[in-house]
Amino acid sequence: MKEAGLENVRMIPSSGHPFVYGEWLHAKGEPTVLFYGHYDVQPADLLNWDSPPFTPTIRNGRIYARGSADNKGQFLAHLCAIKSYLDPIGRLPINVKVLLEGEEENGSPHIEALVESNKELLGANLVYTSDGALHDSDRPTIICGVRGLLYVDLIARGANQDYHSGNLGSFVPNPAWRLVELLNSLRDPKSDRIRIAHFYSGVRPPSPLERSLLAQIPFEQERLNRELGITSLEETGEKAFHRMMFEPSLNICGFHSGPSGPGMVTTVPNSAYLKLDIRLVADQDPDRIWEMLRRAVEEFDPTIDVKRVAAMKPSYTRPDLPIVQLIIGALEEVTESKPVVLPRLGGSLPDYVFTKILGVPSLIVPYANFDQNNHGPNENIKTDLFFRGVRASIQVMSALGGKLDLINNTSPFPPA
Ligand SMILES: [Zn+2]
Repeated sequence: MKEAGLENVRMIPSSGHPFVYGEWLHAKGEPTVLFYGHYDVQPADLLNWDSPPFTPTIRNGRIYARGSADNKGQFLAHLCAIKSYLDPIGRLPINVKVLLEGEEENGSPHIEALVESNKELLGANLVYTSDGALHDSDRPTIICGVRGLLYVDLIARGANQDYHSGNLGSFVPNPAWRLVELLNSLRDPKSDRIRIAHFYSGVRPPSPLERSLLAQIPFEQERLNRELGITSLEETGEKAFHRMMFEPSLNICGFHSGPSGPGMVTTVPNSAYLKLDIRLVADQDPDRIWEMLRRAVEEFDPTIDVKRVAAMKPSYTRPDLPIVQLIIGALEEVTESKPVVLPRLGGSLPDYVFTKILGVPSLIVPYANFDQNNHGPNENIKTDLFFRGVRASIQVMSALGGKLDLINNTSPFPPA
């Protein structure tokens, strides 16, 4: 940040990993953009990488490294854009703040407290986050919100140890069956509906503009099947996007019990573990869903332990805001192709701290390729897309210059 020419660059301590902050605030009467990113990464399993994950390597037109896409490579594009203004001309067309956090991959447990106690420091007209992936066509992509998240661990316990399934195991309880039965009770297999009480309350349907955006998102089924290595999808086209952005979901992320290696092990396991992620949509509240899930598990079997691991509120910004339209125009100009505007990201980011606590519109504008393979081996960003990202950040700052009147006083939310 210092090399890019930002000022007041410092670490802001938290009870976890520190935040990093920098600013350039000399554009009087101009809008302020807060660029948000994260410097932490997922672990890298060295054995599965074709080059060392922490030594950036360029091959096939891509930069391979852990964090090249998620997220260091993407926020570096903003810093390069800032530098490319400040180096030759010494000023930016707008005011800029940069906030980087170090715990995004852990569900951002401390960002809410940071934003709550630094509203003035972080105040802006727009929060701009480059994270995640472009639409698979590589067309510029703008995302106006995120789903919320509730992540839980469940543990069922049986006897004090594993027992022979033919002898004592014939009558000791099997905790794996208990979790399977619990899972069955949570979902209606015919309608695919989740049976947790109030699971669908608070769901805000798409506005007419959001519905038309859903219809415009390209959906190339054959190409998707090929890239995903499957032959059929549960939903396609507009319906698939509706499900991904406007419906809550309950997913089994992990289920483990007993031995799973090769060979024949005939035991009744003494414990079973389940990991669930629940994605929530506007205007649902993770605290309420947690309470409902906890109650459902308790009613089913009070001996099953259920632990809340992480929670994040959903968030969104109205796509019809003038500032959103400005950004769409800027991206179209720099890439010479029509941006794909997604009303929501199916995934979760701590976007609500900006829209709900700061009351500022917030956009996610990914710069990395669809097949970046973040979190997996050989994470990468296409070199030309990295440079296109730098140009996009330059164009965004330039397009916002002189536009304070147009964008001032707009709430991220639609009128009640
Ligand atoms: Zn990530």
